[in-house]
Amino acid sequence: MDDCIFCKIVAGDIPSYTVYEDDVVKAFLDISQGTPGHTLVIPKKHVANIFEYDPELASQVFARIPKIATAIKASNPDIKGMNILNNNGEVAYQSVFHSHFHLIPRYTDHDDFKMIFKDNSDNYDEESYKKVQKSIIDQLGD
Ligand code: 5GP
Ligand code: ZN
Repeated sequence: MDDCIFCKIVAGDIPSYTVYEDDVVKAFLDISQGTPGHTLVIPKKHVANIFEYDPELASQVFARIPKIATAIKASNPDIKGMNILNNNGEVAYQSVFHSHFHLIPRYTDHDDFKMIFKDNSDNYDEESYKKVQKSIIDQLGD
């Protein structure tokens, strides 16, 4: 992908603060450093989002994440936890359309990262949960 900044980082045409690299993935510091140590793990192969992974690429990429996450955590005793985030589509805050996983170290519950999930359970009853459940199961096939 000629105009993809992450493909350019993989190719070495744009510099990055790489922390891990092998034949499948590259992991490098996110330029924004949402919290210190914020790292992106990307497949070297260009896939735009999670919907473009095949099972083999998914297993290869996911298999590498715990090792990188563990190294980040061990790099700083102040890191108490980590959010791992994967945005897919503009509506989901994806801004670079080469799939990537954010590894965001967490220091305190008032550091610079926040996530809001509204609890809408009051609006659901058994019938509405089951309707949503069926709509997804119907798409999974065997
Ligand atoms: P998204 O919003 O797509 O989930 O995340 C894209 C991330 O890529 C952002 O957190 C942004 O800071 C990071 N980013 C964008 N351009 C560059 C770049 O050239 N180098 C690095 N290291 N990170 C980048
Ligand atoms: Zn790319």
